[in-house]
Amino acid sequence: MKELRYLNKYFQKYKTRLLIGVAITIAAKIFALFTPRLIGQSVDVISKRMNGEITLEAFRSELAMNILYLLIAALIAGMFTFLMRQTIINVSRYVEFDLKNEIYQQYQRLSLSFYKSNRTGDLMSRISEDVGKVRMYFGPAIMYSLNMITLFVVALIYMLNQAPKLTLYTIIPLPVLSFAIYFLSKAIHKRSTIVQEYLAKLSTFSQESFSGISIIKAYGIEPQTSSSFEVLSTEQRQKQIDLAKIRAFFFPLMILLIGTSNLLVIYVGGMQYINGEIKSIGTIAEFIIYVNMLTWPVAAIGWVTSLVQEAEASQKRINEFLKEEPEIKNLIEEETPIKGDIEFVNVSYTYPDTNIKAIDQLSFNLKKGHTLAIIGKTGSGKSTVLELIGRLYDIDEGEIKIDGRPIKQLNLKSLRSSIGYVPQDAFLFSDSIKNNIKFGSIQASDIDVIKAAKNAEVHDNIKGFVNDYDTVLGERGITLSGGQKQRVSIARAIIKDPDILLLDDCLSAVDTETEERILNNLEAVTRGKTTIIVSHRISSAKNADQIIVMDEGKVIQKGKHQTLINKDGYYKDLYLKQLSEKEIS
Ligand code: ADP
Ligand code: MG
Repeated sequence: MKELRYLNKYFQKYKTRLLIGVAITIAAKIFALFTPRLIGQSVDVISKRMNGEITLEAFRSELAMNILYLLIAALIAGMFTFLMRQTIINVSRYVEFDLKNEIYQQYQRLSLSFYKSNRTGDLMSRISEDVGKVRMYFGPAIMYSLNMITLFVVALIYMLNQAPKLTLYTIIPLPVLSFAIYFLSKAIHKRSTIVQEYLAKLSTFSQESFSGISIIKAYGIEPQTSSSFEVLSTEQRQKQIDLAKIRAFFFPLMILLIGTSNLLVIYVGGMQYINGEIKSIGTIAEFIIYVNMLTWPVAAIGWVTSLVQEAEASQKRINEFLKEEPEIKNLIEEETPIKGDIEFVNVSYTYPDTNIKAIDQLSFNLKKGHTLAIIGKTGSGKSTVLELIGRLYDIDEGEIKIDGRPIKQLNLKSLRSSIGYVPQDAFLFSDSIKNNIKFGSIQASDIDVIKAAKNAEVHDNIKGFVNDYDTVLGERGITLSGGQKQRVSIARAIIKDPDILLLDDCLSAVDTETEERILNNLEAVTRGKTTIIVSHRISSAKNADQIIVMDEGKVIQKGKHQTLINKDGYYKDLYLKQLSEKEIS
């Protein structure tokens, strides 16, 4: 129960509702337990009439009254049972909601490195399955426990009052039932976990093949994928059958144990009636109903125990991850406005998971409002430079200074909100184009959106779609070409009107003419802003105030565009010649 202690704050939060739930449960049980009493009395009335102790009139009226009371009691009990579910199960839904939000916020807090070391599937199951298990503890587990306790207490009071010795015999088989159900539930849980695993495998497999359907079709490997699927689903079928086998035990076992209890009541009760220990035959009828009423809650003890154990395991996983601290910490509470001078002083960074030294003693100095172009082959560390400026990772050595202050001495939110970042692989959400662009600045107007799209040279393309800016992207929507995606992504960064604009090879899929136009637009847009353009094509660097050429994380050349070319307009350097291929104007 240690892990579940985390949830105590929710008990606190919803204690009024829970207390009302408890009161309602008690009321529901008191009324429900009128039924056996009234049936017992009715049997007595019948037996009295058979012995000729009462008149036909009296018999009729007493029986009719009993039936009326039965109806009323059942109605009231039913109403309270409904309210009981409404209160307690609702609380569990509130807790589920709170917990999901808490987990989601924690997900957002954690750094990139966390996402690299955890599989998406695990993150998803924590927020769906694990929270679901915890909800079962808060809802059904608590409700059935309450139900069981109140029913037991109330029924025992009634029963002991009626016939103490018979009561003892009646409840003897119940603990056996409880244990049996507990072990059965555990076995069911074990097997259903296995079924879940196979189900997850199956759905991952199908999901992947749907995403990669064009490759599967193009290579004509449908038969192979089909047979892989068949192997997986055959395994899954076997696991389902194993589960069904053990599930099948559940009801027969219940019925067997209820039957045993009934037999005991009839035998022991009958003997006692014959011996005169029990005054009326109605008591036996009454007790048979008690036994049947008590069986479910007692069986529920076993079930609830396994629910609590599962919830505990789930909460343990949730706790572990709620305790996780983001690697990139915000050290400065107050906001730190940012101008945009950027300086790297002997910066080195090694990716911990691959041990690749992506940045090696890198230094440069970029004044506010200036443009720096970083060019170099793929893998030379260009993207990493931009990621380090946004503090997606923290550097190992050296210093990154913004406005002369070490980057860690800046408020993380201020830093990131002053950066417009266009990543190398443009990611767009399954939403309208307009919202994808607005993502950079929620309060932007439609006119701003159009302006940004025009500057990114994607307006004409968007106008070409049937729903222009309302065109929905993503799985069920339209798919943009690589170049269109890049340009929407540029528009998203421009609309934010950031002090620092970081463009990571975002023109790679754009033809040279459009590139030229975008670069010219950017000149106007980025006036006064610090801009870093990363590219593997040297043509992107034309308008830059300074250029650095990187290789293996180091600067291998520095200068202005003019200084890197000779009088004839060709690159002086062989490396640059290779990079530039044929493009130079
Ligand atoms: P570029 O943008 O110039 O192509 P990158 O900065 O993306 O270069 O990569 C520099 C080096 O760091 C490469 O060798 C790459 O394999 C490695 N690298 C890049 N990103 C990661 C990452 N997230 N985890 C581990 N290694 C990485
Ligand atoms: Mg890159």
